[in-house]
Amino acid sequence: MKASEAVKHYFDKAADKLELHDEMRQLMFTPKREIQVQIPVEMDDGSLNTYFGYRVQHDNSRGPMKGGLRYHHEVDLDEVRALASLMTWKTALVDIPYGGAKGGVCVDPRELSRKENQRLTRKFIDQIHEVIGPDTDIPAPDMGTNSETMAWMRNQYEKYHGFSPAVITGKPVEHYGAKGREEATGRGVGILTFKLLTRMNLKPQGTSVAIQGFGNVGFHAAKWLYESEFKISAISDVSGAYYAEGGIDIGKALKYVLDGRSLEGFDGAEKITNSEILELPVDVLIPAAIGGVITRANAKNIKAKMIVEAANGPVDWEADDILDEMDVVVLPDILANAGGVTVSYFEWVQNRQFYHWELDRIRQNLQAKLGNAFESVWQTSKDHQVNLRTAAYMVAIERVKRATELAGP
Ligand code: NAD
Repeated sequence: MKASEAVKHYFDKAADKLELHDEMRQLMFTPKREIQVQIPVEMDDGSLNTYFGYRVQHDNSRGPMKGGLRYHHEVDLDEVRALASLMTWKTALVDIPYGGAKGGVCVDPRELSRKENQRLTRKFIDQIHEVIGPDTDIPAPDMGTNSETMAWMRNQYEKYHGFSPAVITGKPVEHYGAKGREEATGRGVGILTFKLLTRMNLKPQGTSVAIQGFGNVGFHAAKWLYESEFKISAISDVSGAYYAEGGIDIGKALKYVLDGRSLEGFDGAEKITNSEILELPVDVLIPAAIGGVITRANAKNIKAKMIVEAANGPVDWEADDILDEMDVVVLPDILANAGGVTVSYFEWVQNRQFYHWELDRIRQNLQAKLGNAFESVWQTSKDHQVNLRTAAYMVAIERVKRATELAGP
């Protein structure tokens, strides 16, 4: 199934509840602009490789469009289109004044040297600099890109447009980045998992968690949850999954990946596969790696009572219906991983004011934004007797619809 079909399915479910008419559905779901560009890159050995890059600008009725740039070998236009639309609903849900966009390059960045990666990044910006900007469309990191990539992007953009730190977020702190941006998505996952648990009258102590993916998001989510006394029973990355029923020493795992960049060879737990981690008998499952990992094929084997979607689109829509029947509570991606874009917004605000916030202020504001979004989703879910995903889409769609109507035709 295409990624965009899954988002359309969730959108339609909520739109039905809101009795949104067809013209408005089409207007709100269709992207404003889709761009595909050719990126020729000279490799270190003198050969030439050509890559495809994408930027999809979905909606700007609530403000400039916002969304990450992903470097991954499975990136294609359909995936980017789906992720751009998720950004529109995500920014509306956490109520920050942005629309949604997304982009990426179909490349495995691990196969490039640092110099090749930088050349690719600068060439990509050469191709899209006219359509992005601090008031129009503001990129950020996603899978396969990081704060260093953002510094190169800003630098390349400024060659055309002059000093403009607010054109990109997720920059290094030394380059007008925000303190706490790197931890923000994972921290948000932790904060929201705790909120969900509290609503379900459970406590962290004794609550077991499995986390798939130990990159930026999985790593910081594990750290926050471990420090809050959750029992992290399993973690994973591309090298495989690591399980200890009694709990993993996350401090040791964090040190291990910081030293070696991967969990390969980690001896603090038993090694299992990345499919097995999804089916462990834990209370909370946090997919924090790639999309489409829970499908019709494995949904029935899920034993967790709660799934917190730290990755974008880890549960496909057929699996979502099955999990609903099994009474598994799913905290949807547009809420669960919204901590990153929220702190990106704080970074953009600081850049426009030429002022730095301290980490405490960022963390407090993040907690407040996510807390408000969680409560509105929880309440909508109770009021309309719908699951948390449909409730989240309902809140978001209603806000985008209102802004679209207010602007007029
Ligand atoms: P990352 O590249 O830092 O880390 C990805 C992790 O997943 C790595 O540990 C990698 O080894 C692992 N992984 C990759 N393929 C895997 C597979 N097939 N099976 C198991 N593990 C695998 O990426 P990230 O920034 O942590 O992003 C993870 C997810 O969170 C993505 O879906 C991304 O779109 C989403 N997300 C990220 C942010 C952010 O601020 N970084 C914000 C919102 C959403």
